[in-house]
Amino acid sequence: MGTKGWKLSKETKQRMSVAQKGHKGIKHTPEAKEKIRKAQLGKIYSPETIKRISEAKIQEEAGYGAIHDWVRRWKGTPNICESCGAKDRYMNWANIDHQYKRILDDYIRLCVPCHRKFDLNK
Ligand SMILES: [Zn+2]
Repeated sequence: MGTKGWKLSKETKQRMSVAQKGHKGIKHTPEAKEKIRKAQLGKIYSPETIKRISEAKIQEEAGYGAIHDWVRRWKGTPNICESCGAKDRYMNWANIDHQYKRILDDYIRLCVPCHRKFDLNK
């Protein structure tokens, strides 16, 4: 005498079948899904924020980020800060004259804190 069947009450069964029927009834068209997605995005970000995010991304890709990628491509990833000698920090290539021209000799290795100080003194 071990098996005690897990029995669903008549009421529970009925509730389940109603729920399933209800599920089948809802079908989202692709347009409706897109609307829901946008509505959810709108809850998190305001339209201005969405605009600012995309603008920042474009700026980064076109300017500052692109030139650093370019320097990195030719000079590699910097590993020692030329200002303080730190080795275990995240390093940047800093531009000596802050013009960010495509002249490799104008770039020096700086850790993030030194880079920040360097940029403040320009
Ligand atoms: Zn440093």
